[in-house]
Amino acid sequence: MERMTKTNFKSPTPPQKRRKIIMSALTRRSFIGTTAAAVGSFAALQKVLGADRSKTDPGPANQPLDGQNPDSMWPPATDSKSLVPTFKYPFSFANKRTYEGGWSREVTVRELPVSKSMAGVNMRLTAGGVRELHWHTSAEWAIMLYGTARITAIDENGKSFVADTKKNDLWFFPSGIPHSIQGLQPDGCEFLLVFDDGDFSESETVLLSDSIAHLPTEVLSKNFGVREQAFQNVPKKELFIFQTDVPPSLAEDQKSAAGALGKSPKDFAFRTMEMRPTKQTKGGEVRIVDSRNFKVTTTAMAMVTVHPGGMRELHWHPNADEWQYYIAGKGRMTVVATGNRARTMDFQEGDVGYVQKTLLHYIENTGDTDLMFIEMFKSDLYQEFSFSEWLAHTPAELVMAHLNIDRATYDAIPKLGISVTPL
Ligand code: MN
Ligand code: MN
Repeated sequence: MERMTKTNFKSPTPPQKRRKIIMSALTRRSFIGTTAAAVGSFAALQKVLGADRSKTDPGPANQPLDGQNPDSMWPPATDSKSLVPTFKYPFSFANKRTYEGGWSREVTVRELPVSKSMAGVNMRLTAGGVRELHWHTSAEWAIMLYGTARITAIDENGKSFVADTKKNDLWFFPSGIPHSIQGLQPDGCEFLLVFDDGDFSESETVLLSDSIAHLPTEVLSKNFGVREQAFQNVPKKELFIFQTDVPPSLAEDQKSAAGALGKSPKDFAFRTMEMRPTKQTKGGEVRIVDSRNFKVTTTAMAMVTVHPGGMRELHWHPNADEWQYYIAGKGRMTVVATGNRARTMDFQEGDVGYVQKTLLHYIENTGDTDLMFIEMFKSDLYQEFSFSEWLAHTPAELVMAHLNIDRATYDAIPKLGISVTPL
């Protein structure tokens, strides 16, 4: 039997899911795919289409990946024919380092060339599993994705910081601040780290074990004022992630770390869900966390929830590139680049997206569950321009003359920013 278009999603997709994919294609744009599925045979398809077989792909294909990327398979007619380099990289493709105690994988400029200003690390720690004491040249911003962890650091005055973090909590460690992360009961944690340098790598940090292994024992002896033999069992190579016992109570650890200096007055953690959304509409909500409410941070975040049918409105950021991580749901984003170029790509949980500074974009929920993602910026302040707000605050006649629209259409343009539609 002759194969039809790839959009009929044959064998690997169960019928129920297939209907969903076809439905979303129907509501979006793929007239051909839907028709093919509806008529069910090549002959019938040909009758509908005539001889035009342009939108078919009869050669080899990775159907599950094509199904996840309908806008790459059949781009909207508004996408440009001139190329726009990819702005998507799934963590599923990332190189994973596994240890007893957890694992780590990263998406940096090496994986996603456009992502020059920021990089991300996704890490899992078991209960008791430790990301060992270390520091680095980049600032570390983090969000807890699952479970709970204890984080430790000292501030620039040597005062200690020890806190427990849960899902959606953030932390921020400025460059050079030494810190650690340890999974707690019952099942440790998984989190995302975002660094303000695309060239960052988790494998190029200053580690406690690594430092000790590269120092003569007589130097360690002089430095700490103890016998050389005391260091005979130090690790000979880096630990990076290792399994140990779950720590004692938070109060105990805080007391033990504080010593005579006392606790740091700084809070390196932020409880995101304790703040009210910055903007809430029928279509969803946005929480902005930057140095205005999270004092220590020099990385800004917008946490966005878009309900089914909703869309994060058209906007751009004047001050920084946007590094995205998709936490839940499905969406698509068009980035309108300079020089008459535009590209649309699809995203789902675990994907990284990227938008260069000043480029216009929207993110539309294309699934039937809430779409949740974070927009990250290498800036202490969040800034955006809303496309609607801009047009609504430009003389009406001028906008109408550009777009060939009538007064009623102009008047309907919303006047609000940082929004998720419908309002
Ligand atoms: Mn770190
Ligand atoms: Mn944005």
